[in-house]
Amino acid sequence: MPNTDARRTRRDFLQKTGAALGGLALSGTALPASARGARRRPRAMSSHAKPLGVALVGLGNYATNQLAPALLETEQCRLTGIVTGTPSKIDRWRSEYDIPEKNVYNYETFDQIADNPDIHVVYVVLPNSMHAEYAIRAAEAGKHVITEKPMATSVRDCERMIEACEKAGVKLSVGYRLHFEPHHQEIMRLGREQVYGRVTVIEASFSFTSRNTEAWRFSKEMAGGGALLDVGVYAIQGARYTIGEEPVRVRATGYNTRPDVFTEIYETILWDMEFPGGAVSTHSTSYSANVNRLYMMAPRGWARIEPAFMYNSVAGRTNEGPMDFPEVTQQALQMDDFARCIAADETSRVSGEEGLRDMKVIEAIYRSIDRGGRWVEV
Ligand code: NAD
Repeated sequence: MPNTDARRTRRDFLQKTGAALGGLALSGTALPASARGARRRPRAMSSHAKPLGVALVGLGNYATNQLAPALLETEQCRLTGIVTGTPSKIDRWRSEYDIPEKNVYNYETFDQIADNPDIHVVYVVLPNSMHAEYAIRAAEAGKHVITEKPMATSVRDCERMIEACEKAGVKLSVGYRLHFEPHHQEIMRLGREQVYGRVTVIEASFSFTSRNTEAWRFSKEMAGGGALLDVGVYAIQGARYTIGEEPVRVRATGYNTRPDVFTEIYETILWDMEFPGGAVSTHSTSYSANVNRLYMMAPRGWARIEPAFMYNSVAGRTNEGPMDFPEVTQQALQMDDFARCIAADETSRVSGEEGLRDMKVIEAIYRSIDRGGRWVEV
């Protein structure tokens, strides 16, 4: 289990110093004049309001090592429930996070969560192909929903999730944590406000060397694709939120140098995107390489974030010098912002629609590969 003492200490530090970040609106152009320097949290719920209860569904790597520890740092929500198919995990989680027995579910009893007033938000942290089913069941149980990225494995499933949440009158969000990270908020500001002129070129790539060929990530059915859905989605996001436009067409090629290992998915995908204002972007993603960067180029300057998509140690420069921002717990800010959106009845900046837009791009990329790398409309 994670070192929760260190997390508690960090939460105390953030509360005392007010060093946590506020957010930028992603849609629209109303960004603050400067994203530099210390920020304050936006005013959210009244300090007298009770934090919202969050149940994590799927207690794998990300839930265990990132989300649950981050929930010790949140101000507006806390971990009140778990859903797991592995009984041997229950005792450790209950004692580590003080979770009552009645708030522990498995995949068969999941729908009974509807009757639990301690749980307001269901956070789906399962393999990609399971996001749609559990998000929809959570909505039908009357709970607000966060689903991990990629939102689902098809455009149709994303639409079904959005429809289910609208019908149930609950909010839907995708775990796009980097919208709450200051280097990324700064590149959004530089790009969208055209600080160095209109963005001309984006280069964004995310690859890592994966040796875990048994895992669900290598199954087309469970993962929906390969590195593109897993980490390439960050590169799509980076281009979209820096330029502030939606790509109109893409072209892509897929490669596989080890067909014995990558039997169902592409090992590597390269793709380009064109945006309506004239910007172009170029990208790669792979399970057999190591790259992690977001570069923005414009007529009068540039910005580079590298490493870009990490939980910590994100670093960046512009042509004016190093970006100088504090390290934040992205997931804590992400979840607190969702709680604020629920309280204020606002749409999250990382809404279901945001996940749907990325899935449309992903499907267009696969269509282009199938057509031999021709340009296809998104
Ligand atoms: P993981 O394999 O470590 O965890 C998956 C969990 O799902 C496990 O607890 C497993 O027991 C459970 N599960 C339930 N039914 C399953 C089934 N039929 N097959 C396999 N597992 C099953 O994976 P992870 O790395 O925690 O990823 C989970 C989700 O979180 C994925 O959608 C992934 O893309 C996302 N994720 C997001 C980030 C981020 O930075 N936002 C980082 C890592 C993972």
